[in-house]
Amino acid sequence: MRSSEAAGLAPGSTIGIIGGGQLGRMLALAAAQLGYRCHIFDPHEAPCAAEVAAIFTRGSFDDSGAIAAFAAACDVVTFEFENLPAAPLEALGHKMRPAVRSLTVTQDRAVEKRFLDEAGVRIAPWAAVDDREALDAAIERLGLPLLLKTRRFGYDGKGQAWVRAPEEAAAAWAAIGQRPAVAEKGMDFSAEYSVIVARTADGHCSAWPVSRNIHEGGILRRSEIPPGAPIDAQVSQAVEIAALLAERLGHVGVMTVEYFACADGPVVNEIAPRVHNSGHWTIEGAATSQFEQHVRAICGLPLRDTRLVGQAVVMDNLIGDDVGQWDALVADPNARVHFYNKGEARPGRKMGHVTRVR
Ligand code: ADP
Ligand code: MG
Repeated sequence: MRSSEAAGLAPGSTIGIIGGGQLGRMLALAAAQLGYRCHIFDPHEAPCAAEVAAIFTRGSFDDSGAIAAFAAACDVVTFEFENLPAAPLEALGHKMRPAVRSLTVTQDRAVEKRFLDEAGVRIAPWAAVDDREALDAAIERLGLPLLLKTRRFGYDGKGQAWVRAPEEAAAAWAAIGQRPAVAEKGMDFSAEYSVIVARTADGHCSAWPVSRNIHEGGILRRSEIPPGAPIDAQVSQAVEIAALLAERLGHVGVMTVEYFACADGPVVNEIAPRVHNSGHWTIEGAATSQFEQHVRAICGLPLRDTRLVGQAVVMDNLIGDDVGQWDALVADPNARVHFYNKGEARPGRKMGHVTRVR
């Protein structure tokens, strides 16, 4: 079913998605609309993406043989999760979109910060912390408060500990499991926002309207579009930065940059080399969703319009027990509900989301 490179992959082609969470699920749904079949690769028994995809392979992310066999059965391979061992993916070459470099740069906070420093964009002052002494040196150099974050495997605020006074250093180091980390100066910001861009293999880049992101306990609670003051004034600069970073990574597909709105402009917090929770609103609130656009970019189809379709959009995550309100939510005529069918509603677990467009 593969057609010429210039025309893109034809309907009926197979997209491999590494990772079977809700991002993979929503990618697979968007891919199906364009006539593609999805093949999910994930170590879990019944990942929520598998039930909406054509094929599911259960395998370990570090099993090179299993990854190679999976990739051989796909026309293009992408991922919905960045904490993947790079080695088994290096062998996939051009079949992998985005390429492995997007993963290796963003999955390690120290490598990511060096990349951001080299790109000349503003980030929180930081230091690599490989041992307890380095933490003391970081406190000395950066001042307090600072936030200690493990270099790898952090998400939803996990693997992070604040140091607000020198005597908290030992507890923070213990709290993150004494693992290689970065220390970041605690930033004074008035809001957080994200820029989501899609980039094609030939370098065409397109951004969505920016969302204001409200976090609770390190987890995204709500996204609001448009973001309003004071974010509006720094949006164009932030979009330019995101496009520059996608270009420097040679990224193909959707990529997200999280920002702090500081008094003197945008400060980059982190990059996610993939579709993002703060872009779920695009399913109903934008002319093209982040999921469809990612599929388009990796399959070599042209990008579509990203315009906001109403006046404003609010997206609320359903975290843990929130999903128990499902019956009221499905009865709300203004709510567009998404349930991920992930099973047990553990505290802090993202179970679904609700979008309201007006
Ligand atoms: P995760 O990978 O878990 O999303 P982040 O680095 O985005 O990790 O941190 C989670 C949240 O913690 C951010 O959205 C922000 O609210 C807060 N945070 C992170 N870094 C800093 C910082 N340097 N100063 C102040 N708050 C921060
Ligand atoms: Mg984050």
